[in-house]
Amino acid sequence: MNDVADNLDRVRQEIASAAAKASRPVDEIELVAVSKKQDAEKIRATGEAGQMLFGESRVQEARVKIPLLPSRLRWHFIGHLQKNKIRHALPLFELFHGIDSLALAQDMDRVAEEEGTRPRVLLEVNVAGEASKHGFTPEALRRDLEVALSLGRLTIEGLMTIPPLAPEAEASRRYFAALRELRDELETEFNVKLPQLSMGMSGDFAVAIEEGATLVRVGTAIFGRR
Ligand SMILES: *Cc1c(COP(=O)(O)O)cnc(C)c1O
Repeated sequence: MNDVADNLDRVRQEIASAAAKASRPVDEIELVAVSKKQDAEKIRATGEAGQMLFGESRVQEARVKIPLLPSRLRWHFIGHLQKNKIRHALPLFELFHGIDSLALAQDMDRVAEEEGTRPRVLLEVNVAGEASKHGFTPEALRRDLEVALSLGRLTIEGLMTIPPLAPEAEASRRYFAALRELRDELETEFNVKLPQLSMGMSGDFAVAIEEGATLVRVGTAIFGRR
């Protein structure tokens, strides 16, 4: 378990140096420890090493693990949320990173109304326009944002992206920059605040922080290979 504590230290140091390099306050950046496929005991030990915020990408798995763990741990949902899982997911997660279509946002709003909850969400953007990926294209987001913002139960706090898989962290930079620029434009066009940018994983979180990430989702660099 010492491994995980050492890995966490290293990741936190890398976050701090990336923030310093970009002249950003480090407390603007939150580390989401991606604990998918990790068992409850490993997550508990990571909590004891001081990491309180975890990310899960499957509702079924999270429903089993979360009740086994201390209630002071906090949970974000980072995956593609299936419509039929919304009701189960709502009470488990404080932020949903991957709201990837207007239809999903509308379903979530309706279920949240029925359940009396007010979910906080990020809209997922497919910045590179990859055919295989979930998410709003930038054009679709411009078209749909007005309606999404009108959904009374949802608080849209920002945007999330997963750039194309690449061996080099630097290859992700243009997609992270594109997400930030899109966010800046949407804030002006729609007169809203979208302060959160969820971008960067184990291979490229330092670059993401240089480009403005406020949430980095890091699994492998903390827990090792899944
Ligand atoms: C698994 C996952 C991560 C973490 O990836 P690592 O490369 O292990 O850091 C981040 N974001 C999402 C959406 C994921 O599914």
